[in-house]
Amino acid sequence: MAKRDYYEVLGVSKGASADELKKAYRTKAKELHPDRNSDNPNAESQFKEVNEAYDCLKDPEKKAAYDRYGHAAFDGGMGGPRGGGAGYQGQGDFASAFSDVFDDLFGDFMGGRGGGGGRSRAARGADLRYNLRITLEEAYAGMAKTINVPSSVQCDGCDGSGAEGGAEPTTCPTCSGMGKVRAQQGFFTVERTCPTCGGLGQIIKNPCKKCGGSGRTERERSLSVNIPSGVETGTRIRLAGEGEAGMRGGPAGDLYIFIDVQEHPIFQRESVNLHCRVPVSVTSAALGGDIEVPTIDGGRSRVKIPAGSQSGRQMRLRGKGMPPLRGSGHGDMFIELAVETPVNLTSKQKELLREFEKLSEDNNPESKSFFGSVKDFWDSMKG
Ligand SMILES: [Zn+2]
Ligand SMILES: [Zn+2]
Repeated sequence: MAKRDYYEVLGVSKGASADELKKAYRTKAKELHPDRNSDNPNAESQFKEVNEAYDCLKDPEKKAAYDRYGHAAFDGGMGGPRGGGAGYQGQGDFASAFSDVFDDLFGDFMGGRGGGGGRSRAARGADLRYNLRITLEEAYAGMAKTINVPSSVQCDGCDGSGAEGGAEPTTCPTCSGMGKVRAQQGFFTVERTCPTCGGLGQIIKNPCKKCGGSGRTERERSLSVNIPSGVETGTRIRLAGEGEAGMRGGPAGDLYIFIDVQEHPIFQRESVNLHCRVPVSVTSAALGGDIEVPTIDGGRSRVKIPAGSQSGRQMRLRGKGMPPLRGSGHGDMFIELAVETPVNLTSKQKELLREFEKLSEDNNPESKSFFGSVKDFWDSMKG
């Protein structure tokens, strides 16, 4: 059977650009991929044909030779540019384009990696979790933070290919890149994972010494992260593509930053509102007055204490709470007054308080009758 023209196989014109070639290849390879064509007996050979065509045309050197000599360029007998070469057996570096197609294939309609430990040549890197502890002030203001993430990165010895010296892995000769082989068993043809490449469709002749062929090495990476204002404990920030590097050129995973906001010595947070207890003296509580309270933005606010305030009284400072993670404005800050009983009194102070008590009883007979009724109550209990 005469070999079809490579351009015809891919369905492009002779002047097609590298991008057009890649696009045509990806479309065809997807269409003809064996996983999608179990009922089309021709798909496999067409798939190989498409791979071979693209393998040649994507390489400028081979493409030039092909454009000049046609298929004869690779026959060996014509004195073509690859004269002494080991023959052209779909060898070369269609690895990267191939892995792209795999990603599309698996991403588009396989819903993930198929079973059976099959083709996982270009595996996506793992997602990483990074726990970031920040203060409430940082959560209030938002910030840029530099974090160091220990992670797998693409090996620079082989540019992630896993092959020594940056050489691309070659197509597995046993399965021609399909990752599966077919065997006759009685009346049935069974398909199983290719024993040579373990289903990867590719083999690495000389694994990179630096990464052992995985295409990844361990390194700590420095990342600058923008923490938006309003984050809470449990907020996740996703940094797409900042997770572990993929296996052998696969896409990287994502990095998730889990926020943990530390307890604040003064403020308790309740969604966007802040609560705090503010001690006030007995005299301020009784007579009224101004107090200064710290606010989360680092400033201070003056608060008017009404005369006769009881312990536990709540006051609200509008807009002095936290910003929401999404949306605008701020929550409120709630102050709970804690009236403090004076301690370590001087004798003069004690004397004045006794006088104060006496005046209170004279001035406010109700208070006397209240204590009186409590006394009566206890007396009746003793019975
Ligand atoms: Zn194989
Ligand atoms: Zn390497």
